[in-house]
Amino acid sequence: MANELDPHYLVALMNYEFNSGQDGSARRLDPPSHLTSGIVDHHGTNVRTLPILDALAHISVSRPNSQVVAMALQLKPDTKEIHLTIAENQDVADSLVNHLYNIWRKLQALSDEYAGQRKAEWDGDQMLSPVIPLDVVRPLKIEIFREVYKFCLEKQKKRVNKWFRALCDFMVELEKRRVGVALEGFERNLSNAMVSLVLALQLVFKHSENQLTDDEWERVYWHSMIANKDTKLVLADRHGLGCDALAQELNGDRDGDPFQLRRALEKLISLPRHIESLFGFAHSPRLRSTLQYHMTISAVPGQAQIIILPTSQEQWKSLLEAACGQPGQWQRKDALNLFQKFESREQKCPVHCECGLIQYLQTKHCDSWDNVPAFSYIGVSRLSCSACRVWIKAFNMLGGAKFYTRGSHGKWYWPWAMPMMGVGSLRENMAGMVLDEYLTQLEKKRKIKRAGSDSSGAITSGAEHGVSDADEQSARAVAGAALLESGGALSGFFSDHVHFLHANVPRFVG
Ligand SMILES: [Zn+2]
Repeated sequence: MANELDPHYLVALMNYEFNSGQDGSARRLDPPSHLTSGIVDHHGTNVRTLPILDALAHISVSRPNSQVVAMALQLKPDTKEIHLTIAENQDVADSLVNHLYNIWRKLQALSDEYAGQRKAEWDGDQMLSPVIPLDVVRPLKIEIFREVYKFCLEKQKKRVNKWFRALCDFMVELEKRRVGVALEGFERNLSNAMVSLVLALQLVFKHSENQLTDDEWERVYWHSMIANKDTKLVLADRHGLGCDALAQELNGDRDGDPFQLRRALEKLISLPRHIESLFGFAHSPRLRSTLQYHMTISAVPGQAQIIILPTSQEQWKSLLEAACGQPGQWQRKDALNLFQKFESREQKCPVHCECGLIQYLQTKHCDSWDNVPAFSYIGVSRLSCSACRVWIKAFNMLGGAKFYTRGSHGKWYWPWAMPMMGVGSLRENMAGMVLDEYLTQLEKKRKIKRAGSDSSGAITSGAEHGVSDADEQSARAVAGAALLESGGALSGFFSDHVHFLHANVPRFVG
């Protein structure tokens, strides 16, 4: 019966069932145990490249709204060539392709600098490669940081405007609760991260990007890197539960959900964190060969399908009966709601980037990459939606190549369309799997009786690449002095320094 149902209708049904909520699927997945066609034939090394692909996708996002990027990797070790294929939910702009060529060239130069340094300091008798002073390549790192930050500036400003005010309010509330007691440990790291973030962001927001001087960009770099370091400690506290515990404590007995402290920090620090992953890439001797290859980029053309959903309440009702295998009282009401929600007009539905990318990789393009399998991990700038999660799973069941992303945010979007791949069983697999999740959800809502199951995953962290001790000390001294100048309390510091946000940005109601 599932075979007869159009997967698109079922995706629309799931969008209706979950409204704007999440379906409880695993947010992030463990790295797959069998990655194929990676940089080397070594699982551990290939796992290290996953954050790099995600970082490249992340630094590709420049528009403040609804831009998502997916990225695939192919290699030809014999001819020392590397190929990136990038996709969006629409066509890819030339400016993005040029940006990636530019950053790749700079990462190559950074890798060369590190390699030169390693060679100079290498003592043939030593078993281990020498520890390289972190400030050797400082100007080049700052240059890469600046180029990426400038490209992503509008997106970064959007994140800051969405999360920063509420985070400042949350910190002021924390300070009030701890009155007379100096913040320690986890809370001290959080406070330090906030001071550094403010010092970086007030510069970023001060001028339009062209007016920031080199000196100012350098300061943005140092403060961002220090904020990144402190935030990592905060996020790792108590195996990742520290943030939730603190948010819960400050929420107290109030109605409503606690402040999403973890999410706010992850969003605000995401750009410097991904840039750091790229520095780690350039620094790695094991991954160096990749940065010596000649790199080319293909952009996947945007795809969409015209979908016509059921055009009457009766048609929706028949669909619900077919999906459940039985009529039910609630179906008439749901059918009316569905008809009113989606109306009857045809809709142009985009193919999301990760699915469009996989289809592109499976298609011949009459070039030398046609027979080179892609690395089975696809980098993405944000977690996949549920429909894409299920489509990839259905694709992987076909028995050919398999692909993975870092996970799903658990939301069902509409409009959404499958790529036009000429395989009937993929459509059937997709329909069957979405139907299964739909019925599980109906059972949870006690509309039908049936058994279901769920699973959860763990978080993988990016490669690390910090700043030198001396640089860290001087950046921390600047942050400490700035805090003291405002009287030593975060509340005073924020009112002196946080004037850069738009009006009417969300607040934490403490
Ligand atoms: Zn999607």
